[in-house]
Amino acid sequence: MENCLFCRIGANQVPSKIVYEDERIFAFEDIHPQAPTHILICPRKHLASLTDAAGEDAALLGHLLLAAAQMARERNLLAGYRTLFNSGAGAGQSVFHLHLHLLGGRSFRWPPG
Ligand code: AMP
Ligand code: ZN
Repeated sequence: MENCLFCRIGANQVPSKIVYEDERIFAFEDIHPQAPTHILICPRKHLASLTDAAGEDAALLGHLLLAAAQMARERNLLAGYRTLFNSGAGAGQSVFHLHLHLLGGRSFRWPPG
């Protein structure tokens, strides 16, 4: 997906602050952080949103979530952190390459806006 911003970040074609990567996923700091820690975790495989994921992606999605928990542990966020997917424009999705937000370092309200 040569025109996809997050595919380009994963391929190091667009500058970003990568904090973790392996053969299946990569993670980088959000350019407009909404909390002291705000990391985006993406599969290397281009999926536009969670809605486009299928059964064959189950292990990949699990890997994203476990990577988020590991990063939360490493950053001492265990007092309370949030992991979320915005799926669709109505939920605020603005980049259509699936990404898991990891937010931490402050308190959060419920329900979210
Ligand atoms: P969403 O609104 O859920 O699609 O999240 C997209 C996120 O990507 C937003 O929080 C943006 O601040 C972030 N973002 C957009 N462009 C970049 C970029 N070049 N580098 C890092 N984060 C970005
Ligand atoms: Zn992409």
